Amino acid sequence: MRLYCVFGDPISHSKSPLLHNYVFYKLKIDARYIRFNLKNKEDFKNIFFDLNLEGANITLPLKEELFGICDEIRGEAKNIQSINTIIKEKNKLIGLNTDSIGFYKSIENSNIKNALLIGAGGSTKAIAMILKQRGIEVVIVNRSQKNINFFTKNGFRFHCENLEKLREEKFDLIVNSTSASIKNELPLKENILIDLFKNAKIAYEIMYGLDSRFIQIAKKSNVKTIDGRSMLINQAIESSSLFLNLPSSKIAPHMQKIAHLI
Ligand code: NDP
Repeated sequence: MRLYCVFGDPISHSKSPLLHNYVFYKLKIDARYIRFNLKNKEDFKNIFFDLNLEGANITLPLKEELFGICDEIRGEAKNIQSINTIIKEKNKLIGLNTDSIGFYKSIENSNIKNALLIGAGGSTKAIAMILKQRGIEVVIVNRSQKNINFFTKNGFRFHCENLEKLREEKFDLIVNSTSASIKNELPLKENILIDLFKNAKIAYEIMYGLDSRFIQIAKKSNVKTIDGRSMLINQAIESSSLFLNLPSSKIAPHMQKIAHLI
C-alpha cells in the first residue's frame, strides 16, 4: 500500500485526506492519505522516510520553511520559493507548488486582463507569478512593506501607502489573498473596496468556508464572487496527478464530485 500525508501545524482541519482518499477509492488504487501535525521542521525528513511515504502535501506554516529540505525543486516552486507538494523519486525529495495552477484554473475562462492582489504573503506570490506568466497585468497592495523586494524584483507594482489612489484604477479581478478574514477584518478600507468592485468582474477570497466581509461587500456590489474552495480543490487535483502520475482529467471529476463537502 502506498502512503501519502499532509504536514502542517495546525492540521486537524485539513480536508486533503478526504479528497485524496476518495480519489484512491474511486480509481481502485491501493493507497492511503493521512495527516501529520509537524511542530519541528527538522523532523520532516525522518518522518517522511520512517513512514515510507511516496509523497506529501505541505501546508501552513511550512511551505517556505520546507522549501530548503528538498533535493530538487521543479516548476513554479522555483520562482516563488515555496512548496506545497513533495514526491519521492529514487529516494530523492522533489518539491513542487500546485497552488499557482490551482488558482489559475479557477479563473482561466473569465477573460481577465488585469488584477489587484491584496496581500504579500506566500499565496500572493504564487498567484502573482502565474497570472503574470499567463499575460495578466498584476498590481500588489499590502498593509506593510513585507516581501516588497520579491514583488518589485519580479516587476510588479507594489503599494502600501496612498491607497486612496487605487480607487481611480480599474481591475477585472480583485483577490483577497490576506488572512484578514480569519479575524473578520477587511483587507482594505470598505470605501476603497466598494469603488474597486464597481469596475471588477470577479472578487476572489482565497479563504474558504466562511462568508467573509470581503465577500459580503462584493455581493452587495453585484460582483461575481469566488471563494478559496475552488483553489483548494484544483491544487489537490494537480497534486494527486503528480502523486499518481495520471492526467488531472482522470482525477478532477472525482474531487469535484465531493467539493461540496469541503
Ligand atoms: P501569509 O502569512 O504568508 O501572508 C498573510 C498576508 O495577509 C500578509 O500579506 C499580511 O500582511 C496580510 N494580512 C494579515 N492580516 C491582515 C489584515 N488584518 N489586514 C490586511 N492584511 C492582512 O499567508 P498566506 O499568503 O500563505 O495565506 C493567506 C491566506 O490564504 C491564509 O489564511 C490561508 O489559509 C489562505 N490560503 C488558501 C489557499 C486555498 O487553497 N484556498 C491556499 C493558500 C492559502 P503583512 O505582510 O503586513 O503581515
